[in-house]
Amino acid sequence: MDFQLVLDQINTELRPLLGEGGKVASYIPALARVSPLQFGIALRTCDGEVAQAGDSAVPFSIQSMSKVFSLTLAIKALGEALWDRIGREPSGSPFNSLVQLETERGIPRNPFINAGAIAVADRLVSLGDGKAELLALLSRLCGEPVSIDTEVAQSEADTGYRNTALANFMKGFGTLDNDIATVLDVYFNQCAIAMTCEQVACAAGYLCRDGKHPLAGTPVLSSAQARRVNALMLTCGTYDAAGEFAFRIGLPCKSGVGGGIVAVVPDHLTLCVWSPALDETGNSFLGRQALELFVTKTGLSVF
Ligand code: GLU
Repeated sequence: MDFQLVLDQINTELRPLLGEGGKVASYIPALARVSPLQFGIALRTCDGEVAQAGDSAVPFSIQSMSKVFSLTLAIKALGEALWDRIGREPSGSPFNSLVQLETERGIPRNPFINAGAIAVADRLVSLGDGKAELLALLSRLCGEPVSIDTEVAQSEADTGYRNTALANFMKGFGTLDNDIATVLDVYFNQCAIAMTCEQVACAAGYLCRDGKHPLAGTPVLSSAQARRVNALMLTCGTYDAAGEFAFRIGLPCKSGVGGGIVAVVPDHLTLCVWSPALDETGNSFLGRQALELFVTKTGLSVF
């Protein structure tokens, strides 16, 4: 399959729609001023073939896409014990909701809603320097240094009232072991990591290779663990649109409010698309269309 041709076609078809729908995240100034007129897409196959189009080399805020990688670190270190305090069901509630935590006694529904990711960050703090470990993992996975946008990190901290509430609430139920400020520092910083589509497509590569490092071939996760991360991405990775994503695209995906979406075609390739304007579900307006076009053009889907 000529993947470069496919990505070029998608870029050509979607570029005229830039500015035609969706809104850039506005809860912090550093995201609010990102131009919505950007679209990038990149992929890397299991054989190491790469293809990219549009603004694929422009760094953007990976936001909640970071939850895939923090989960990876926690699963690798803790195995099954991670699930003692975190569920694995779609939430059906907004990603920053407090309501479910009350009825479910401080156990977050899954690791991709904010409460779940904060609980994962707490596990990473217990294990060491979560922030440094995450940056090191991402840099190793894409073979290039990855860094945090400090302005975004500071703004996340300055405006993170709901996340602070979630952390306090879980602490009250005994879900978190560590000091809330330290846990939130990991969470806010992971949201502020900046990467390009090309870097993310490479970094996620272990998810289409039974857990093997995309460049070195060494195990990042076991194949069973990688399968589970993919399952969680498919069922919980795209906010309240996971059912619609499965229906229309049929790939494990994780999105972020920076406008990125990472997708996995198991045994074939990993793909990252970015366009900052978000639809009403908080997923990239054009990113979602790009993934649908990709699946239509290639027939690559898990279903
Ligand atoms: N950083 C934001 C938050 O924690 C959004 C994360 C996201 O869903 O991409 O509220």
